[in-house]
Amino acid sequence: MNNKLFKKINSCRICGNDDLAIVLDLGDQPPANSLRDNIEEELPRIPLQLACCRLCGAAQLSVSVNPEYLFKHYVWVTGTAETTRKYSIEFCSRMLERLPLGRPLKIIEVASNDGTFLKPFKVKGHELLGIDPAENIVKMANEDGINTISEFFSSELAGKIISGFGEADCIFARNVVPHVEDAHDVIEGMGRCLDEKGLGAIEFHYAGTIHNELHYDSIYHEHNLYLSLSCLSKMLEKHGLFCFDISESPISGGSIVAYFSKHRREQSENFKKKILREKNDNLNSVSAWIDFSRRAVKHKDELLNLIKGVPSKMIGYGASARSSTILNFCGIDRRVLSCIADNSPLKQGKYTPGTDIKIFSPDIAFQSKPESVLLLAWNFSDEILRELHDKYEFSGTVVVPFPGNPRIPKS
Ligand SMILES: [Zn+2]
Repeated sequence: MNNKLFKKINSCRICGNDDLAIVLDLGDQPPANSLRDNIEEELPRIPLQLACCRLCGAAQLSVSVNPEYLFKHYVWVTGTAETTRKYSIEFCSRMLERLPLGRPLKIIEVASNDGTFLKPFKVKGHELLGIDPAENIVKMANEDGINTISEFFSSELAGKIISGFGEADCIFARNVVPHVEDAHDVIEGMGRCLDEKGLGAIEFHYAGTIHNELHYDSIYHEHNLYLSLSCLSKMLEKHGLFCFDISESPISGGSIVAYFSKHRREQSENFKKKILREKNDNLNSVSAWIDFSRRAVKHKDELLNLIKGVPSKMIGYGASARSSTILNFCGIDRRVLSCIADNSPLKQGKYTPGTDIKIFSPDIAFQSKPESVLLLAWNFSDEILRELHDKYEFSGTVVVPFPGNPRIPKS
């Protein structure tokens, strides 16, 4: 991609077909994670459109943004949410259930962030390797004792990993395959790193949930693909890898983990059911995503109406990449939200891209005694609602934008 900031894609990222239909236009938006220290700094605006392949039905972004720009100073630190930390332990157990017992295993995580998901394997005495391009976060992982290298994972890097670390008994990638420009190359690399009898796993925000529960806020420039299980299975098979089982994940408000191996294993009932449901729902089709788009536009109007009706001294909660899409798409800026509360110290003191809302720690944000809160990090709703009530004794109005229709939960 050289130094160009973004390029339009001309063929499907999964099957290579060149007939793509634009199904949803969210407007020209700055990259969602470009938080900045002052609002004078100009940000580029890049088309944010969802396209759907007319051949395989895969939903995807119509442009690719230069990954050097997107990921070098990534500000999402996995370990910041309590839900995520708890899930990391469950994730490790589910993986180990499917692996041989009684010996230390070699475990690799692609895009390991701060090492939160490798930590439970370390506690059990396994040998670890994390790979992540964000230098600032890799430093944090290593300081925390999680062996991590700062690189973009690729099929080329896989060769170096095998000669240094060896073949993996288990390799996993959480929320990375949909984010990379060349998902095929990452899957090829994962296959190369994997021992003949090993277990691979890919976790991704599931297209079925995105579609049914209307998660249009998950469409942003780092998220190139919106994968169904059928699409992912087909991709894996192109690289000699076979998906045989799934498990559900609470992350992103509805993700799944797809397990795969180098040999065909008996497919689980859950796997078969999911594939059948996709077929019955016609999920991998342009018409399904056009319907999604219609519902997204209606959702925007409903949300803005709901906000008009609540006390105007309002703050947001959660300055995630997803919040950037919804704020920009709905035109919710600093005239509507006086600030956004977020627990991540990396984000505090900065301004949101395109909407110029300042981010503060929740402690500081609640000192201003807001009367209403827009729960942007709605995928952590339970955790945040508890915190609002117990820690800040907040008794005002909370607006929860997703899943499905926007609503004000009864307190
Ligand atoms: Zn396609």
